[in-house]
Amino acid sequence: MPESRFMVKPCIVCGGREFRYWATRKGIDVVICTQCGHGRSELPETYATDIEEHYDDGYYHAMSYDRRWRFRVGRATRWLRYVAEIKPPPGNMLDIGCSMGYYLAAARRLGWTPYGTDISRHALKVANAHGAGTFWSLHPDGFPDWLPPLDVVTAAQVIEHLHDPIDYLSALRGHMVSGGVIYVQVPNFQKLLRQGPEKPYMGPPEHAQFFTIETIRRTMEKAGWEVVQYPKLRPSTIGPKLWQWLPELVFEYPRELTREANTRNGRLSNMHIMARAPQ
Ligand SMILES: [Zn+2]
Repeated sequence: MPESRFMVKPCIVCGGREFRYWATRKGIDVVICTQCGHGRSELPETYATDIEEHYDDGYYHAMSYDRRWRFRVGRATRWLRYVAEIKPPPGNMLDIGCSMGYYLAAARRLGWTPYGTDISRHALKVANAHGAGTFWSLHPDGFPDWLPPLDVVTAAQVIEHLHDPIDYLSALRGHMVSGGVIYVQVPNFQKLLRQGPEKPYMGPPEHAQFFTIETIRRTMEKAGWEVVQYPKLRPSTIGPKLWQWLPELVFEYPRELTREANTRNGRLSNMHIMARAPQ
């Protein structure tokens, strides 16, 4: 019997080869690495080649991406303000999985020059209408030559769709300026584990990876990024003066502790990670 029949694809995070079953969705199993807790969909090999089909007009209409423009731009602006505290504008910013261009609009508002990429040509058409430099791509190796070196990259609800996020994230570093910052937002697997697989959730085939707070950090680090905000969102801005750091200590610090606890115990749906391309 060919050996390949018994080969288990190792865990992308820790290399472990032991998995336990968690759930089945649309005929595809979701399994959990017993060593590190990372979840993954056991997608058929053919899925990667016809991935584009999953993000046609229908996907976006079903997700009502066309609606609530102002709400979504406002939310993107809020996250980008955190990025700006680490890597202030101006500069070139690329949003991966730019969809209709919410982050692009927010980036322009805050002073960056926005670029966007997506695998949905429908979404790109809409994003383009908002005047950002957009292009279709599946992988950073295929980014166009005209794309300038990037100061900031954002990828909200993207990495969990990738078959090989480590390869993608490390190829991405080649497009960054030294010290460039990436903001990644992924769903919190702890939340799904807490609520159980019978509750509605985005699973396979769209979602290939299920990150916990530990496994997203390890994924970023394996791809060569230096995690700077994890899972804390506010950078430490404690200044020399009492009136500056007191509100931070009293209001922000406990809030961040709560955020971390709520991420770990699965009360928060999404995780926000920022990392820097090494100097
Ligand atoms: Zn693992």
